[in-house]
Amino acid sequence: MNFYVLTLFPEMIEQGLNTSIIGRALEKGLLSLKTVDIRNFSENKHNRVDDYPYGGGAGMVMAPGPVYRAHQYVEELIRNEKNTAEFTGGINITGHEDINDSNTLKTNTKKTRVIYLTPQGRVFNQTMAEEFAKDEDLIFLCGHYEGIDERILEMIVTDYVSIGDYVLTGGELPSMVMIDAIARLVPGVLNNDVSAEFESFQDNLLEYPQYTRPEVFMERSVPEILLSGHHAKIEEWRKQQSILRTANTRPDLLEKAVLTSKEKKFLHD
Ligand code: SAM
Repeated sequence: MNFYVLTLFPEMIEQGLNTSIIGRALEKGLLSLKTVDIRNFSENKHNRVDDYPYGGGAGMVMAPGPVYRAHQYVEELIRNEKNTAEFTGGINITGHEDINDSNTLKTNTKKTRVIYLTPQGRVFNQTMAEEFAKDEDLIFLCGHYEGIDERILEMIVTDYVSIGDYVLTGGELPSMVMIDAIARLVPGVLNNDVSAEFESFQDNLLEYPQYTRPEVFMERSVPEILLSGHHAKIEEWRKQQSILRTANTRPDLLEKAVLTSKEKKFLHD
């Protein structure tokens, strides 16, 4: 799967994602990550990409031109990569220096999803991560300052996504959050045993509590059932714990969960 990030701060994305599980998947070529510095597409002699808002008000707004050109560049890059099939994974920082590469073949006309990170978008969740993980290529557009000129958003954005009801300084952290959540769903990124396991939000429940060695830590013991070796009983206990946790912290989720009559009884007792 290929991630492209249009940003004013590419180093933030690269440093943030090229580590641990995602870093290893990039190295293996299971994923690729290309950051595109929007500033490289400024036509201003001082490389400015923002300007004062029409109508007045505090802060600056990212101008449409550089974003438009950066997006065109990425679309062309994707077309090239599809046609030359040379995409080998890893991280790549790209500029506009080879935008006029004459090798471009324009046979791939499918538009790639462009996700604009914004507090005004749909709030990201696991179901959306699963949906986005079906695409081969995804383009993320990170805003900064007061945001981006509305006209270019209308032209190129397919999905407006927020990571929660709070305002951050830029779209870089939100895009990293999304890429991490989507990337771990790509086959092979997690080892297969792990990906098959139950995880929070599956079946609208939160995951049960986890324990590892030592068996007793500061006088607190691991629940006995987990040491019993009785798999069916362990599964039942875990499911009950999931239900209790969800009831305590996310009753909104639990409302959507499908419980057996035995589980419902357990919850109400
Ligand atoms: N003026 C905008 C508003 O009130 O909706 C907020 C702009 S915010 C300071 C700057 C950039 O950070 C946004 O363009 C967006 O890319 C990103 N951002 C901030 N909070 C976010 C959130 N909760 N989810 C996703 N992106 C966010």
